[in-house]
Amino acid sequence: MRIDVLTLFPNMFRPVTEESILGRAAENGILDIRLTNIRDYTLDKHNKTDDYPFGGGAGMVMYAEPIFRSLEAVGAEGKRVLYMSPRGKMLDQQMIEELSREDSLVILCGHYEGVDQRALDHWNMEEVSIGDYVLTGGELPAMVLIDAVARLIPEVLGNSLAHLEESVYSGLLEYPQYTKPREFRGMEVPEILLSGHHRMIHLWQLEQSMRLTKERRPDLWQTYLDSAETLDKEEKKVLARVLSGEDE
Ligand code: SAM
Repeated sequence: MRIDVLTLFPNMFRPVTEESILGRAAENGILDIRLTNIRDYTLDKHNKTDDYPFGGGAGMVMYAEPIFRSLEAVGAEGKRVLYMSPRGKMLDQQMIEELSREDSLVILCGHYEGVDQRALDHWNMEEVSIGDYVLTGGELPAMVLIDAVARLIPEVLGNSLAHLEESVYSGLLEYPQYTKPREFRGMEVPEILLSGHHRMIHLWQLEQSMRLTKERRPDLWQTYLDSAETLDKEEKKVLARVLSGEDE
């Protein structure tokens, strides 16, 4: 997958995109992240990228011109162009899954007070928010999106099935995880996880996931309950126990 990022601060990305799992994916040619500095596409001799907003108001607004020219330079015509923005559609796992099926994406990172609306309108940009709070720039939101999308691309994670059990994918939050040693400072790993009995372990993990989701995320829990008919007989028994509040 090719991801073009248009930003005034390309160096912010390098520690994230060149390290660890994303770095390896890039080395292996699975992920091609191209950073474009919008400042390189100014026509202004001082490389100015922003100006005061028409109509007054606080802060500066990024010019449309260098954004248009950067988009043209990366060949954004006909591609999906995202603009990271607190007024955008909220990023969630469903959107991430959908984006991960694209061959290429273009992401614009705003800064200051935002971007001249004409750039957003002309390029038909999809505005995407990572949450109801305001950051200084779109770089961190873009990195969040890239990281979440990248790990869904086949071959990016070593164990390609690992993500299927994670929080949110299955509609439930993830159950507690343990690793060696079996006993740590007097605290034991739950006995069932050492039993080697896969079915019992699955039912225990399912129950833990259900309890956590019911307690922490009533919104997810309600959606999960609506699809509960796909559970098998034993799983339904687990659900009944969680719903009855038994053993809490
Ligand atoms: N004036 C803008 C508004 O009220 O919507 C906020 C501008 S913000 C200070 C600067 C840039 O940070 C935005 O252009 C956007 O690219 C990015 N940004 C800030 N918060 C964000 C969020 N929650 N999600 C995505 N991008 C965000």
